[in-house]
Amino acid sequence: MTADFETQLRAVSLRVTRPRLAVLAALRDHPHVDTDTVIALVRADQPTVSHQAVYDVLRALTDAGLIRRIQPAGATARYESRVGDNHHHVVCRSCGAIADVECAVGRAPCLTASDDHGFVVDEAEVVYWGTCPGCAADRTAQRSASSEGNR
Ligand SMILES: [Zn+2]
Ligand SMILES: [Zn+2]
Repeated sequence: MTADFETQLRAVSLRVTRPRLAVLAALRDHPHVDTDTVIALVRADQPTVSHQAVYDVLRALTDAGLIRRIQPAGATARYESRVGDNHHHVVCRSCGAIADVECAVGRAPCLTASDDHGFVVDEAEVVYWGTCPGCAADRTAQRSASSEGNR
């Protein structure tokens, strides 16, 4: 698996470094995490890596297209290593949980804007907002708890 990451890095002319490999591995195992979480995951394995080094790696990998930075309105930026398929996200308004939503296989119909105003469109950003199953269950639990006077 590390060999895959090395191939990916070389394909975009980035030097193979341990922090870069660690960030790619962290995002493969934990999609849609924010910068602080990436730092914690990398440091669990490589305690000497600085915050700045992780920031730099995230920027370099994003610029190279190996990872994707997503930033739902009002949320902190998250990163994922699933790139290039124009998939969308569903975001929980309560806890910020994010999950992938497939776009159509093959040509992405949402990229065909009803009016592109002459722009060459290469990405359509669609975010579905809602409440995740965990938060929905919590709310139901809270409601019944408060009706019993526990909260
Ligand atoms: Zn939630
Ligand atoms: Zn995603």
